[in-house]
Amino acid sequence: MIAVRMYGLFLSVYYQIRIKMIIGHIPSGYIYSKLLANKLAGKRINLHLLILIGVTGAIAPDFDWLYFYFVDDEKHLHHTYWTHYPIVWLGLLLIFSVWYRYISKTSYVLLGVVFSAAGFMHLILDSVVGNIWWFAPFVDKPYSMFTVSELHEPWWLNFILHWSFLLELLLMLWAIILWQRKPV
Ligand SMILES: [Zn+2]
Repeated sequence: MIAVRMYGLFLSVYYQIRIKMIIGHIPSGYIYSKLLANKLAGKRINLHLLILIGVTGAIAPDFDWLYFYFVDDEKHLHHTYWTHYPIVWLGLLLIFSVWYRYISKTSYVLLGVVFSAAGFMHLILDSVVGNIWWFAPFVDKPYSMFTVSELHEPWWLNFILHWSFLLELLLMLWAIILWQRKPV
């Protein structure tokens, strides 16, 4: 019985990643990098590459799903891997920001800033209704802004009928509006 429940839990994590990858994270990365690209227009930087890096950074923490599924055999929640540790992305962001500000103002370093900022944004979005170990590896405790109560069957209806799903749709709408206005 417990095994069946655990399997259901892993399955829900898996589907959640698939839904969020498309509906939440990709538009958020696009919005962030597109707004930045609009600001940097005219500067010596490849804006298409900047947007590509922004979108990639916004989904990068979820690449650990490959490890979760193929290597870890779904034993641990992928949010417990270091790829979902805020300190990792904040650390990267700090390193690239200091590097860009004080050492080298090249576009490659700026892309590093964009990538790590987008990765950190991913964790904030994950934390809206998902668990993120904000103080890992020092504190073994997950934090979530809101919880999705289990009111409906099947389980995924709980996510689709939750207000946070509307937030994700709004992100998508915003991304489409930005894309239509001035395609970069
Ligand atoms: Zn994630």
